[in-house]
Amino acid sequence: MNAARSLTTAQRTTLESALQARQRELRADVAAKLKTQDDPRLVGLRNRMEDTDDWAAADAMAAQDIALVSRDLAELANVEQALARVADGSYGDCADCGNPIPYERLAAYPAARRCVACQEKTEQRERARK
Ligand SMILES: [Zn+2]
Repeated sequence: MNAARSLTTAQRTTLESALQARQRELRADVAAKLKTQDDPRLVGLRNRMEDTDDWAAADAMAAQDIALVSRDLAELANVEQALARVADGSYGDCADCGNPIPYERLAAYPAARRCVACQEKTEQRERARK
C-alpha cells in the first residue's frame, strides 16, 4: 500500500462534509416523502423515526421494498456506511483490493467502496449472474 496516494486530511474533510450534507439531504427527502403518504407501513416508519430519530427503522423498511423511498434509503445506507468508514479510519481504501481509491473518484462519488478496477469486476460478476 502506498501511503503517498492516500487522501490528505483536507481531502478527507471535504469528502466527509459532502457525505454529511448528502445524508441530511436524503433524510429530509425521505421524511418529506413519508409525510405525504398514508400507506400504513410508511406511517409506522414515520412515527417511529419521529419518536426516536431511529434510522435503523429505515433500514428495516428498505428491506420491504417500498419503491417510493427504497432508492433513497439504499443511497442513505451507502452514505452512512461511508461515514462509518471515515470514523474508523478505513475510508478511501478499496473494500476489495485495499488500495487507496483516487481522490477524483471519491470527489465524484464520495460513498464509493471500491476502486474503479474492482468496481468493474464486481459489476461484471453481477451481470454474469443474471
Ligand atoms: Zn480495488
